[in-house]
Amino acid sequence: MSASIPALMPVYPRCDVRPVRGEGVYLYGEDGTQYLDFAAGIAVNALGHGHPVLTKAIADQAATLMHVSNLYGSPQGEAFAQKLVDASFADTLFFTNSGTEAVECAIKTARRYHFANGNPERHTLITFNNAFHGRTMGAISATNQAKMRDGFEPLLPGFAYAPFNDLDAALALVDDHTAGFMVETIQGEGGVSAATPEFIQGLRRAADEHGLLLVLDEVQCGYGRTGKMWGHETMGFTPDLMPMAKGLSSGYLPISATAVAAHVVEVLKTGGDFVHGFTYSGHPVAAAVALKNIEIIEREGLVERTGSVTGPHLAKALATLNDHPLVGEARSIGLLGAVEIVADKATRARFGGAEGTAGPMARDACIANGLMVRGIRDSLVMCPPLIISTDQIDEMVAIIRKSLDEVLPKLRALS
Ligand code: PMP
Repeated sequence: MSASIPALMPVYPRCDVRPVRGEGVYLYGEDGTQYLDFAAGIAVNALGHGHPVLTKAIADQAATLMHVSNLYGSPQGEAFAQKLVDASFADTLFFTNSGTEAVECAIKTARRYHFANGNPERHTLITFNNAFHGRTMGAISATNQAKMRDGFEPLLPGFAYAPFNDLDAALALVDDHTAGFMVETIQGEGGVSAATPEFIQGLRRAADEHGLLLVLDEVQCGYGRTGKMWGHETMGFTPDLMPMAKGLSSGYLPISATAVAAHVVEVLKTGGDFVHGFTYSGHPVAAAVALKNIEIIEREGLVERTGSVTGPHLAKALATLNDHPLVGEARSIGLLGAVEIVADKATRARFGGAEGTAGPMARDACIANGLMVRGIRDSLVMCPPLIISTDQIDEMVAIIRKSLDEVLPKLRALS
């Protein structure tokens, strides 16, 4: 045992705060300090913390039956799957426990689809610069970011990378080995950057023309965050496969899913057994709480409220930060917002320290001022619970302004 090595493997930096309790949109640290939670467990806690109906759903199901494995059917899993089918383009779906497993399922399904169709050489997914799909070997191989991949080679073959939102570049990569495209409708970890409708509709058209599959990773931007149930909903098309995760159970227990269109499954059925599974797939307690979660989201109209009230309010409130000397751009889509921190407003140049200093530094200042937000590279990112109020959004923006004022001299000292 080494005194200098923590028991939790130090594979990424954690903030200094250790929240021990949550209530609604507030977290409480060990010393009782209250934090307004605009990080929401990384865009997960849709209904906030400590929701009594969700905790009761867990307690009731836990007292009845906890785990049976994927050897059996599950009334809770089937009911939740039906809800998701009704709420999306999907005809069927596969449950997993994390976003990256849902992505992995999509990658395997896409390959297997072409195998079953008699085209095993079609195994390459075209993915996009700055993407984030998770951290399994499949997901990091799909991600063209050195920091995610360094030291983990050899990566899996079968991925090609194009610049995000560059349709011509993506189409130029299509060849006899292409299985399809995998793209985030909105790059969340990439700094809240949306795919343009023309780009993503172009990918859909190309997929249709060439018999390819379109995988939309909506792990972060799905489930109401944009003000629509799905990020692609207003774009006039549907994907073939869609990993989803954040928000499914408001984070009360891990659960994720890969949504699949019927025509994909029709082809898969022709290719013999498609062997894929997880022991915990569709865990009864996770499915039970996820079912209650979506019932509440629907009953309270939280997706519509995000689209018509809180999302537009966040956009207006963030825009007031544009006059701050540190703010290059403040932007949002629904309840996913970002404030880009720059050294020079005109050129949008970054601060002199290593890229990625400004975001975490500003985040720490926000936390010290009672606000949880994310610090991604040179941006502050906010992804609050869908139950957030307009007053709380205003409070968040005031804390960000104060925190940016405080870090301004420290950041200037770096340059
Ligand atoms: N895809 C996207 C778009 C994500 O934002 C994330 C997580 N931030 C993942 C996949 C991976 O999810 P998880 O961390 O649950 O594996």
